[in-house]
Amino acid sequence: MKRTLFSKEHELYREAFTTFLDREVVPNQQKWETEGQVSAEVWRKAGEYGFLCPWVDDAYGGSGADFIYSVVTIEAMAHRCLAAPNFRLHERIAVPYLDRFGTAEQKRRWLPGCVTGETITAIAMTEPTAGSDLAGIRTRAVRDGDGYLINGQKTFISNGQICNLVIVACKTDPEADPPHRGISLFVVEEGTEGFQKGRNLEKIGRHASDTAELWFENCRVDRTNLLGEEGQGFYYLMENLQEERLVTSLASQAGAEWAIEHTVEYCQGREVFGRPVSKFQNTRFTLAEAATQVQLGRTFLDRLVEAHMAGESIEMETSMAKWWVTDMHFRVVNECMQFFGGYGYMKEYPISKAFTDSRVESIFAGSNEVMKSIIAKRMGL
Ligand SMILES: Cc1cc2nc3c(=O)[nH]c(=O)nc-3n(C[C@H](O)[C@H](O)[C@H](O)COP(=O)(O)OP(=O)(O)OC[C@H]3O[C@@H](n4cnc5c(N)ncnc54)[C@H](O)[C@@H]3O)c2cc1C
Repeated sequence: MKRTLFSKEHELYREAFTTFLDREVVPNQQKWETEGQVSAEVWRKAGEYGFLCPWVDDAYGGSGADFIYSVVTIEAMAHRCLAAPNFRLHERIAVPYLDRFGTAEQKRRWLPGCVTGETITAIAMTEPTAGSDLAGIRTRAVRDGDGYLINGQKTFISNGQICNLVIVACKTDPEADPPHRGISLFVVEEGTEGFQKGRNLEKIGRHASDTAELWFENCRVDRTNLLGEEGQGFYYLMENLQEERLVTSLASQAGAEWAIEHTVEYCQGREVFGRPVSKFQNTRFTLAEAATQVQLGRTFLDRLVEAHMAGESIEMETSMAKWWVTDMHFRVVNECMQFFGGYGYMKEYPISKAFTDSRVESIFAGSNEVMKSIIAKRMGL
């Protein structure tokens, strides 16, 4: 079915970005997977070509592009089975906090670097004792003269190794009732005394996308590093989650599309008992069912993108998309992998990477159980 989201300009951008991926990212992917991190150079190259945060206002170095440009980059990466560089986290999850809640002075200070790729961002909410229950975070920021002292630990932070700017959720009022009212967001830059990166965590997938622990020990930041108002951090996080869930769903959706396309091609080429795997009824029915689910996801998501761009409040619908599409993605990849037989279990076959990469999507950006809790609450249950 023809999609109606994209203009001629978006298609030209897609062409340029896919050329960039094929030249600069795909050939280095295996090396980066082994090293557990991409190069900072590829970020700067992406910035040079205008592929990072093109939506940022031109007053701060961007080109004021619409949301569809991000849809294009997210899909192009997933259509190549790429989880790194983690541009999505930077441009649609972390940087929007600087843009939405920063003062003009803060935007002048940080946004231009986010566009050029000199600044690579991360967002640190999760702690060893608080993931889904964000209100339970323990990292403290205590006023200290005209600044704040931050103490605490974060974990599972994407871009945690490669970043040089991290947005940190801290408790500024541990007595606040309810507890989520006591959370504030701070910007901590690399080189700030007391800020340390821990080890690059070993994951079962997404090896080139680094994930780290971060430590803050008497880490002093100026009051100009407070993002928005003190005590409003939780509300800011909630405000941005609609978009975070939408972009996570978009990546999963495109990943499922990639899996089907890739598997159809494999099944047509592989012969078993004298005929292509694609000619067995089981293969045909399984892939037909998978393709149907993928089409349902596509139709729903394209509509959500339009609604999001129109400024509609679609918290419930993006929560629905997040759980359904990410579950569907993993299910489809798992079914596809079966058609590769033993080869699907080999690392050199990209379907095995898709299997381990996609598993986390039901866990991060709000676990799928949390998504269902949000939907149920909206239903008045
Ligand atoms: C690869 C990766 C990258 C990540 N990147 C980042 C990042 O950049 N920044 C960041 O801050 N965090 C990041 N995270 C953390 C991620 O957001 C958390 O792992 C996630 O929110 C779940 O928290 P948790 O791991 O503490 O699990 P827990 O909160 O301990 O949950 C355990 C289980 O309980 C279930 N559960 C929780 N609440 C409910 C409920 N109300 N009803 C029913 N079941 C429930 C969960 O669904 C889960 O199955 C990342 C995680 C991974 C694995």
